[in-house]
Amino acid sequence: MASNKTLLMLPGDGIGPEVCNQVRRVVDWMAKRRAVNFDIKDGLVGGACYDVHKQAVTDETMQDAMDADAVLFGAVGGPQYDNVERHARPEAGLLRLRKEMDLFANLRPAVTFDALLDASTLKPEVIQGLDIMIVRELTAGVYFGEPRGMQVYEGVERCVDTQAYTKAEVERVAEVAFDLARKRNSKVHSVEKANVMETGVFWRKTVTALHESGGYSDIELQHMYADNCAMQLVRNPKQFDVIVTDNLFGDLLSDAAAMCTGSLGMLPSASLGAVDEFGRRKALYEPVHGSAPDIAGQDLANPSAMMLSFAMTLRYSFDLQEDADLIENAVQMAMKSGKRTGDIMADGCEQVGTTGFGDAIIRALDEQAA
Ligand code: NAD
Repeated sequence: MASNKTLLMLPGDGIGPEVCNQVRRVVDWMAKRRAVNFDIKDGLVGGACYDVHKQAVTDETMQDAMDADAVLFGAVGGPQYDNVERHARPEAGLLRLRKEMDLFANLRPAVTFDALLDASTLKPEVIQGLDIMIVRELTAGVYFGEPRGMQVYEGVERCVDTQAYTKAEVERVAEVAFDLARKRNSKVHSVEKANVMETGVFWRKTVTALHESGGYSDIELQHMYADNCAMQLVRNPKQFDVIVTDNLFGDLLSDAAAMCTGSLGMLPSASLGAVDEFGRRKALYEPVHGSAPDIAGQDLANPSAMMLSFAMTLRYSFDLQEDADLIENAVQMAMKSGKRTGDIMADGCEQVGTTGFGDAIIRALDEQAA
């Protein structure tokens, strides 16, 4: 029997706790049917933490996150916190986790589900079988560069943001992309604006040098300008395998790629840190969607994005590929069985709630294990 792995579960606000509860059912299933055991510790984050501690995450929870093998994060935020001071706002909890855990690589898969081909605005033949991984640099670039803010330059008031990258910051995220590509279809597109930005030229040079001298000659590397990449994502997204790009372009391109696939309720993500001396890497897994206050507490939320985030946890933090496949297949099978939450409802399907869809996922797991 495998030794226990530690998971910190931070359900957060709104639909966060509801979708996390469905993951707990699958964790129990894994223990019973696959002898894969997790020790789960719970913590408060976002508004739920503010209500008790007047801050978005406590030092104790930060320490738990540092100690855990992986963090599973639900969602944070809600209109009741709109007037809370900025440093204690719900999203400050997530930003602190990302910063202090140094989660520099954000993985956003865009995968289409056959049962949802009609949910996309793109033609079925363009997106059927789509499976892209976008690797976005998450802790540097224009969102963090200094100087930033208002200044007076030659007597004129202006505002600046600064795009800055070190060689190490580019290399470490490119390494993640090359390593991922090796387990997929061995193709990386590195995306920047080398035609107009100095940091783009530097990004391209650094990725090229790493590709040549870092032992990645088995990976096909192509460079692409970010504007062209945006166009290609809606024209012919299946040309991509792994895309690696900076913080700003990654923010935009990952949302564009995600929408090729249809619904917000289906999209997982992972944020990874560096590998430490024990071979362990800090990691946080979360759905792309927010806390959806409009449907919270009504058993209406689609738990798939959270469930698929748990599958990513198994894949990237614990190397449990077979178990991750089981969960991903179970989500597909649940949809094919005709059960749907409201956000992905279609003609001829039966609308179920969060728990009902969780039931369908458990049934599909049982079927695969039978
Ligand atoms: P949202 O993602 O919460 O919701 C957008 C729309 O999609 C809503 O209509 C919602 O009902 C629907 N939706 C989202 N997830 C769904 C699911 N799993 N199943 C069914 N429908 C789903 O985005 P928003 O409305 O812009 O933001 C609401 C709150 O969430 C805000 O406070 C925002 O700051 C916060 N937020 C948090 C995160 C995060 O925690 N990482 C991300 C985005 C937004």
